Amino acid sequence: MRTNYHTHTCRCKHAAGTELDYLKEALAKGLSIIGFSDHGPYQDNRYGYRMDFSDLQPYIETLNELKISYRDQIVVYSGLEIEYAPSEESYYSELLTAYGLDYLVLAQHFYALDNKKTVNIYSLTDTLQYIDYAKSIARGMETGYFKFVAHPDIMFVNDLPFDKNCEKACDIIISAAEKNDFILEFNANGFRRGIHEFTDGKRFQYPHMNFWNLVAQTSVKVLIGSDCHSPEQIWDQAVIDAYKIASDLKLNVVEKILNN
Ligand SMILES: [Zn+2]
Ligand SMILES: [Zn+2]
Repeated sequence: MRTNYHTHTCRCKHAAGTELDYLKEALAKGLSIIGFSDHGPYQDNRYGYRMDFSDLQPYIETLNELKISYRDQIVVYSGLEIEYAPSEESYYSELLTAYGLDYLVLAQHFYALDNKKTVNIYSLTDTLQYIDYAKSIARGMETGYFKFVAHPDIMFVNDLPFDKNCEKACDIIISAAEKNDFILEFNANGFRRGIHEFTDGKRFQYPHMNFWNLVAQTSVKVLIGSDCHSPEQIWDQAVIDAYKIASDLKLNVVEKILNN
């Protein structure tokens, strides 16, 4: 069964295609479930690189219409990819109740260090900051608001040597996933970004195999996410590669994450 729960739309302003464009491509590629998880806004439109808060209601309404008009052909879920911050818990709750979203994806593009300073995951300067990232993920898992962690190993976009802090960060995330029976995403968009020369060798920014070799030693559930930013990426070579690599690693891949 082909499914994808990590789909963006042009509403986030750095992806191409409408909800309908992705849905049509999903049908063409034989998917039976498409979950939309565009970058979630906050009321104050912090961070940027995502939909405006005023676009949230139209996004949800569009998805609700597609759910009905295509119900005989494909299951459509409405979700958002969003950062976890402890101060926003009532908002996550509201998104899942009043707004009626089907799921939230935990994705720490921005997070608070132990000293409370908010940092961008793409510009970390010390692997000690990976540990705070991992702790923020673990706390997010425990809240019950999220269905899976998007690109849990995204901290490896930074060119810092793989040291004890990296090992500890991996362990915190994987142990928390085991403890909370939480799904980790093996993100195909990392493969689209290609291989780069890093201090610790030539590799993808993410997925980082040091992380996934550790996951492979557990029974933690793994979801392949397309993280498509244009419709043709919904089931492209990167997704096919991701399934192959996950299978070679003997990861515990799941295809369904919602029951209703
Ligand atoms: Zn993301
Ligand atoms: Zn994404």
